[in-house]
Amino acid sequence: MNLAILGPQGSGKGTQAEKLAEKYGLLHIETGRILRDIVKSDSPMGSQIREIMNGGQLVSDKILTQVLSEHITSDGIKEGIIFDGTPRDLDQYEVIKKLLGNLGGKLDKVIYLKISNEESIKRLSNRRTCQNCGEVYNLLTNPPREEGKCDMCGATLVQREDDKPEIIAKRLAKFAEATTPVINQAREEGILQEIDGERPIEVIFEDIVSRLQL
Ligand code: AMP
Repeated sequence: MNLAILGPQGSGKGTQAEKLAEKYGLLHIETGRILRDIVKSDSPMGSQIREIMNGGQLVSDKILTQVLSEHITSDGIKEGIIFDGTPRDLDQYEVIKKLLGNLGGKLDKVIYLKISNEESIKRLSNRRTCQNCGEVYNLLTNPPREEGKCDMCGATLVQREDDKPEIIAKRLAKFAEATTPVINQAREEGILQEIDGERPIEVIFEDIVSRLQL
């Protein structure tokens, strides 16, 4: 089974993708995390990507295709793939369909986690990430035991550059402009599952699982 999970920033797609990957044995491809890792590597490509991400823009299709093909190898895939954060626009939608086609598969479902812009802004401005291991916290709903420190490794928690309010607004506008056509297209193709993302994590997960089993 091959899935793509989409939603505005802070909709919880990473959390749900991780749980789905575990339940169904899927390869989890989280482009945001992969790109952040390249940025950390401090290569020329890393600084180019840093600039794009910190401005709330999308990386080019060329970079994205390169990143995807490096991470998707046929022997890495057991039961399928879950794309988390891709496709962000119609061109990317075609890219992943082609990629899956080359592997002899297809995109089975697109899961759209819906939350309001107000909820997205509230969640992102309270999001903190461990600068060492990448563990994610929310100061309102899932705070660390000790303020500013990661529960897992003790390193300092930071706010992502692109989680600052003016950049969040840009990212949300980009989602509305570029990703809404993907959602409409998947709906037309009959593979869209729209999920209310403003509920507890476990309730959302059960909802997604029951819809995948239809
Ligand atoms: P995310 O963690 O999914 O919100 O992604 C963080 C940032 O990474 C985005 O704002 C983009 O700059 C970049 N990014 C992640 N996924 C993609 C993608 N599929 N296409 C282009 N840029 C992406």
